[in-house]
Amino acid sequence: MIYILYFLVTIAVFGAMEWVAWATHKYIMHGFMWFLHADHHQPHEGKMEKNDWFAVIFSIPSILCFALGAKYGNPWLYCVGSGILLYGIAYFLVHDIIVHQRVKWFSRSKNRYIRQLRWAHKMHHKHLKAENGESFGFLFVEKKYRDKIKRDEQLQQKD
Ligand SMILES: [Zn+2]
Ligand SMILES: [Zn+2]
Repeated sequence: MIYILYFLVTIAVFGAMEWVAWATHKYIMHGFMWFLHADHHQPHEGKMEKNDWFAVIFSIPSILCFALGAKYGNPWLYCVGSGILLYGIAYFLVHDIIVHQRVKWFSRSKNRYIRQLRWAHKMHHKHLKAENGESFGFLFVEKKYRDKIKRDEQLQQKD
């Protein structure tokens, strides 16, 4: 029974991380830490970005949870650490691979969710400055972007 609870807590933390990532992206990365995020919004040379430091920064709370969980023998901290870690992996898969194609996987995917993700994040990248951005989330696609992809599908069916 307790394992079901561990599982549920891990999933809940994973879900909450979408909100944390959204808020961090909107208010911190596009706020006082824009100096690290800016090169992700502007054309640049080379594969690595200053923005990649955020992957390192975001791994710290997860590492701390595992370390403290081990120190105090507290399984709940492992659940929280796992939720954050899994979100980090999903974020990398979606943002860096599926959307930005740093590795050329899923490049021709016709999957509706993948196309919705790409469109929503494309709208985020339309803005080259920190101010007046939109679409700060990652795994959850806002309704207006989902609707746009559905409309496209309907138009395609007509011709
Ligand atoms: Zn951004
Ligand atoms: Zn991006």
